[in-house]
Amino acid sequence: MIVCKFGGSSLADAKQMAKVKEILSSDERRRIAVVSAPGKRTADDDKVTDMLYECNRMAQQSRSCRPVFDKIAKRFIEIAKELKFDSVKLTAALDEVRQKIDAGQGTDYAASRGEYLSAHVMAAYLGWEFVDSADYIVINSDGTVNPLSYERLASRLSAEGHYVIPGFYGATPEGVIKTFSRGGSDITGAIAARAAGAELYENWTDVSGMYAADPRIVKDAKVISELTYVQVRELSDVGASVFHEEAIAPLVDKEIPINIRNTNDPDAPGTMIKAHCDAGKLIGVSGKDGFSKLKLRKLMMFRRPGMRHALLTMLHLYGVRPSYSLFGIDSIVWFFESSQASDSVLEAMCARLKKDFALDDISVERGFAILGLVGGSMNESTAFIDALTSLRDAGIAIKCVNHGASNTTTLIGVAEEDKAKAVGTIYHALFN
Ligand code: ASP
Repeated sequence: MIVCKFGGSSLADAKQMAKVKEILSSDERRRIAVVSAPGKRTADDDKVTDMLYECNRMAQQSRSCRPVFDKIAKRFIEIAKELKFDSVKLTAALDEVRQKIDAGQGTDYAASRGEYLSAHVMAAYLGWEFVDSADYIVINSDGTVNPLSYERLASRLSAEGHYVIPGFYGATPEGVIKTFSRGGSDITGAIAARAAGAELYENWTDVSGMYAADPRIVKDAKVISELTYVQVRELSDVGASVFHEEAIAPLVDKEIPINIRNTNDPDAPGTMIKAHCDAGKLIGVSGKDGFSKLKLRKLMMFRRPGMRHALLTMLHLYGVRPSYSLFGIDSIVWFFESSQASDSVLEAMCARLKKDFALDDISVERGFAILGLVGGSMNESTAFIDALTSLRDAGIAIKCVNHGASNTTTLIGVAEEDKAKAVGTIYHALFN
């Protein structure tokens, strides 16, 4: 059987939901649908989840969420009308949700209701059974999936049944509704695929797969036909955003493949994500900006056992959690997300580190982007040399290179303002 997850744009209105029905009914193996909340219908439209967060903010300020909630209710009622099913139950459910948000049920409750309502609508439209994620999916306090979820959900699903499951939320071990991070319906789909022992997890979205480079930067970027779990995680880490990187975890052990598909172009084969692919292939290039660089220097610093650990502990105290590292003979460079600390916090942190660790030098520089060149067997590949040469020829300054730490990705640092040009340059040099 196949578990299908549909993203917000696939459920944005009745027309999109009709496409979803068509997709589900065209293959009888598709028996479990995991749904997001309705997304944007047009570029300047609001996502239902964003409006629900806004409703919760209003309730926290002791204002009724009604002005915003009415827009949400109108969208759902319109969908029900267009799909020609009775909206009496839906109206009652909408009223209950609004009252609970106003009564201060909390952020996660409010945010989760888009998926809850959307799943009810889809279940009624398809005539499938609604299974509430809150009763089966357990989310730990750190946001990770509790493995109990797989058994619980598996025991609820029969081999012949047809089910609609809301994405994005579950409950804490104590039974309180809790959401995953944004885009987390991908994780719910993966949990359902594992629980149901699916042969395939289809992730239906509004693009025809993962691209070898961001199509907003490289207009003619090609769709990646197949890549591995590890490659998709590393590509997502440096900015590719089609699939939630944490959604891989439930699928890896069982080697359940993922197929990214386009609801608006269902005949396109999309991208397959699997445990193993053609080992030597170059997969894609992606970039993420908003990084700062912390540079520390001290003569013979690595002679002191535990130094790196002690430095990191101190960084954590100031809210700085490095994403990428480089080590020199007597120096360390850490890149961290600039949003983690203000200038004044960084100033205080540097002064403290310099004093406590008797550093010879410490500095912070903002404005970096980190590019990832992702492929198979990168340690044996010389593709990164071609990538660096192409950047040099395009006059783009290379700020750092991290090659060899991962057999999947070579990381290249550039100035933030060079990110798009650098991604385009590498794509055209290596992928065309
Ligand atoms: N609706 C949630 C969000 O907007 C979750 C999801 O769509 O996956 O983040």
